Amino acid sequence: MIPTAQLKAQLDAILARLRDATGATRCTFRGDLPERGIDCNDVAGEALAPGARSLRGQTAIDQRAAGSIRWLAANHRPLVQPDLSGAVDPPPPPQLKSVFGVTAQMLGPVVRGNALTGWISVHYDKGVRAWADADVKALERALEEVHLVLDDSGLGRLAGKTALITGGNTGIGRAVALAYADEGAAVAIAWIAREADAQSLVTEIERRGRRALAVRCDVTSESDVSSLFAAVGTFGALDILVNNAGIQKAQPITEMSLDDWERMMSVHLRGAFLCSREAARVMIPRRTGRIIILSSQLAYIGRPNYTAYSAAKGGLLTFTRALAQELAPHGILVNSVSPGLIDTGFDPLSEETKRAHAASLPLKRLGMPEDLVGAFVFLASDEGRYFCGQTLHPNGGEIMP
Ligand code: NDP
Repeated sequence: MIPTAQLKAQLDAILARLRDATGATRCTFRGDLPERGIDCNDVAGEALAPGARSLRGQTAIDQRAAGSIRWLAANHRPLVQPDLSGAVDPPPPPQLKSVFGVTAQMLGPVVRGNALTGWISVHYDKGVRAWADADVKALERALEEVHLVLDDSGLGRLAGKTALITGGNTGIGRAVALAYADEGAAVAIAWIAREADAQSLVTEIERRGRRALAVRCDVTSESDVSSLFAAVGTFGALDILVNNAGIQKAQPITEMSLDDWERMMSVHLRGAFLCSREAARVMIPRRTGRIIILSSQLAYIGRPNYTAYSAAKGGLLTFTRALAQELAPHGILVNSVSPGLIDTGFDPLSEETKRAHAASLPLKRLGMPEDLVGAFVFLASDEGRYFCGQTLHPNGGEIMP
């Protein structure tokens, strides 16, 4: 991670170019980057015309409460305001005009993980300013540069986000938890039996300089899930839920007990329902969020002795599609990942069976949890912003739906 002073210097340089291009009085960048101790109520980068007053250290205004910033958070595109005199819609903070003498402005949003992380302000103080196309283009160029700087600065694509991964202590969930931490997220996980793995994961994430929380929770229990979300609620505002908890038991249908069948349905379907319901309840008011659901390629092709598991994963696929449609109007994206056989020990196959399976794949090897994490980071990050109700298939080419 580059030092914060260096990051701020890079932001200053971008803003200086923007100010030169627009002839503005002042260009600033504000953002919420908690890992850096950067808060949007102060400016993190600034460029000033000669004699213009600096906004550094002027923290009295609650920026996010301003109508103009709420507009940016809802619209994710530049706001161009040529004349701030009289009643302006959406209104900037009143002090911007009365104390700092700004008469016209442009605002450009910095959106990461589908949420407004920060914004560039371009201020003018000599009356009405008919912003030209070239001014807006210069602002858009600066926004791209800020995105690149934030991506390269080690903040990561999930900087400032809070993620919850059920079954995050082992296997695929653990790899996703570490990848999310590497991308800047604070990560909470739920586990049910293997506490030592949960604790070692917390240590590993904290060693990476991120916050971590591990909560024991049976995802089939409504009260456990309710306590889990209460704990996560005090940890951070939930941005990303990965419904990953799962169980496996291969057996002929003639030997399957009703309890086996119901446990399979319960961990996968009831668990995903309970966790997604709680997540939706906290994400809907914030109008942002990502829910990722672990299905399996067996949802598509089935397999002898895997009837219950295949049925549960098929149900999760359809659950994904229905929930995606229901939550999209609230700004929440729901998608799924359907891996092929991943070598986690989840399915206790013999080495010989695994070798034969690997040989049958176009890529000639079994998948490892690390092979999947790109799909999960993508779906959780701003890059996945146009994916809704879709399924990604990291499976070595076994099936190509
Ligand atoms: P793991 O066994 O490593 O992970 C399963 C996780 O689920 C564990 O963390 C386990 O917790 C947790 N879990 C199980 N039951 C519950 C419960 N009732 N409440 C809360 N947590 C629970 O296997 P994988 O990493 O391989 O599997 C993860 C997901 O990926 C599963 O949904 C699986 O179906 C899916 N998947 C796996 C494939 C594979 O080949 N491995 C292929 C396709 C999909 P604990 O450790 O505490 O028991």
